[in-house]
Amino acid sequence: MNHILSDRINELSTSQTLAMAALARELKAQGKDIISLSLGEPDFNTPDFIKEAAKKAIDDNYSTYTPVDGYLDLKQAICRKFKRDNNLDYQPANIVVSTGAKQSLYNIAQVMINPGDEVILPAPFWVSYYEIIKMAGGIPVEVPTSIETDFKITPAQLEAAITPSTKMIWYSSPCNPSGSVYNRAELTALAAVLEKHPNIFVVSDEIYEHINFAGTFCSIASIPGMFDRTITVNGVAKAFAMTGWRIGYIGAPEFIAKACTKMQGQVTSGANSIAQRATIAAVEADPAVLKDMVKAFYNRRDLVAKLAQEIPGLKANVPEGAFYLFPDVSYYFGKTLRGTLINNADDFSMYLLSEANVATVTGDAFGNPNCIRLSYATSEDLLIEAFKRIKEALS
Ligand code: PMP
Ligand code: GLU
Repeated sequence: MNHILSDRINELSTSQTLAMAALARELKAQGKDIISLSLGEPDFNTPDFIKEAAKKAIDDNYSTYTPVDGYLDLKQAICRKFKRDNNLDYQPANIVVSTGAKQSLYNIAQVMINPGDEVILPAPFWVSYYEIIKMAGGIPVEVPTSIETDFKITPAQLEAAITPSTKMIWYSSPCNPSGSVYNRAELTALAAVLEKHPNIFVVSDEIYEHINFAGTFCSIASIPGMFDRTITVNGVAKAFAMTGWRIGYIGAPEFIAKACTKMQGQVTSGANSIAQRATIAAVEADPAVLKDMVKAFYNRRDLVAKLAQEIPGLKANVPEGAFYLFPDVSYYFGKTLRGTLINNADDFSMYLLSEANVATVTGDAFGNPNCIRLSYATSEDLLIEAFKRIKEALS
């Protein structure tokens, strides 16, 4: 029946992170002992002080439509957060609150990209960027990186990727899926290239900002000359273990913020009232409240980096942030394991699912066909068991 559906949806790929998570859930429901390292979501509960704020919002009857761009006091709290954590001077008119950072990104694509505009994506990139850009008629221009450069692009690579059609560059730091974090010097060097191309806008996706072991964090908008051409994307899903609450936000030049509000006003209206009230508590909190969770991720990072090293043929960097390991598994391409020929990362990931009962995501979905992504947002015991199974399946 696909011919009845629009070309738009027929040309859209399914989100591979969500598809793998769904497959893992389905196999679990059939009684299979699957360990899912597929979906990127914290295995912690939302902190109590945030839940309390939500309960109070219900009792206080926050039950009506919200302003399309978000409650004013939430936007003011987000401005204080941007100043406190990122030294960015946004005003409420620069802020738009949305139903998850995913909607923030979708809005940006819809309001900024015309058909044929090129958008530079340092690869690996987060899976949905590609399709969100395509849906707006944009042309994703992948710039490959590798473990050798810690999966970061160089200024020379950026320069070489720019054409007269380049409209934007989108990246995440800490990066999903590589865990790499761009430091101020690296971003300053990239900004120097962009200085020569004043019409290019930047999307800086900082949703993993607080899950960062590098010790420093830099928003590209804080680099001289970048503020007026950067859209800073953030949200509460990852840092505050609020993936299901669906709140993301942007800080952007006012004309872009206005355009996103116009877009959202025709599609979803303002984000959920209770979740917005709860988000005020989250963004107002001292990031020190996240210390225990970040420490747990840090310990798991060390654990998975060590466990991965013990598996022959797996080559991984030590991620500095987020909660993913992105090992290169190309050593196995062309080899036959237990009668299965492994041609690529898709085959490798499916092999791990069927032979090790461990769900991962193919790197192909993130623009790197040599790697797979493992989310280590799960307990140390399960991580140890998962790597034991992977090692056995590959031996
Ligand atoms: N950006 C990145 C890099 C992500 O990993 C995610 C994960 N979901 C999102 C954006 C979307 O976040 P949200 O859940 O707030 O839509
Ligand atoms: N961002 C998470 C991931 O990459 C959640 C899944 C999704 O939103 O695609 O796994």
